[in-house]
Amino acid sequence: MKRLGCKLVQQKVEEELKIKTDSFIAKGNRAPSLAVILVGNDGASMTYVSNKQKACERLGFMHFDYRFSEDAKEDEVLALIDELNVREDVDGILVQLPLPGHIDERKIINAIAPEKDVDGFSPVNVGSLCLGQPCYVPCTPKGIMEIFRYYSIETVGKKAVVIGRSNIVGKPMAMLLMQKGVDATVTVCNTKTGNIKDYTMDADIVIVATGRPGTIDSSYVKNDAVIIDVGVNRISDPSREKGFYLSGDADYDSFRETECSVTPVPGGVGLMTVMMLMENTYEAALRRAK
Ligand code: NAP
Repeated sequence: MKRLGCKLVQQKVEEELKIKTDSFIAKGNRAPSLAVILVGNDGASMTYVSNKQKACERLGFMHFDYRFSEDAKEDEVLALIDELNVREDVDGILVQLPLPGHIDERKIINAIAPEKDVDGFSPVNVGSLCLGQPCYVPCTPKGIMEIFRYYSIETVGKKAVVIGRSNIVGKPMAMLLMQKGVDATVTVCNTKTGNIKDYTMDADIVIVATGRPGTIDSSYVKNDAVIIDVGVNRISDPSREKGFYLSGDADYDSFRETECSVTPVPGGVGLMTVMMLMENTYEAALRRAK
């Protein structure tokens, strides 16, 4: 098995972005800035937000952090987004998902001005991605494309299977893979697909984003497939200091005796997602400065 670790990929992107950011600021521009909104106390969400803040600090970006309690009203969050949409000192706005059940996630995302939607989830950005027009590409699929580039993984003419059709991972991933220049032939699976092996056995690239540990193992793919594991699942384990460990959606160990190339969890796709958010924020700052 070849381990597609992402630490070096992330470092390379970060180094390049730092050089671009320093030069942008040296030309007299304000540092790129990101506003992050977190509602509630979900442990994983707090970790993700903290990782985003740390990345901002390493790159010299400004960040504005907003915390709401679990029972915050939808209108309060919408009012903040309205304010951030027009603030000159804010380039990108990110609302950490998932939101508590009483808040309409779609309404919140749709309220973010498309030019500040650095997560790429608003209808304008999704539509532009679908049409192959310039847009903010959702961070996780964008990061996966970066992994392909770094490891020289060919997509042109390859058969790709995306397992999962969420708006934040599966759908945009499938759209990117089918774009001109990327040129994969794409199949997207969901919970009603039936026997997923019917599709994965023939695939050159499998991207698994289900949120279900063990969705696939080595018996699902041919011997030299590329497996991109997007899953981040907290598995309870009282023997560990944090009380849990992280597992992906693929059974990583099952691939050890194969010729497959597999991203690990942790140390894989997740590292890229944060860095792509930083890239999108830098892009937003560039657009504003023009
Ligand atoms: P989601 O919104 O829950 O969507 C999961 C998708 O997987 C759904 O489309 C579902 O199908 C499909 N699915 C679930 N079980 C399946 C199965 N057994 N066979 C086929 N399809 C199945 O999840 P998400 O937001 O896309 O996230 C997926 C995973 O990626 C989670 O573990 C999440 O934590 C992780 N994630 C990681 C990053 C990162 O940076 N590494 C970023 C985002 C998400 P239906 O539509 O039919 O229900």
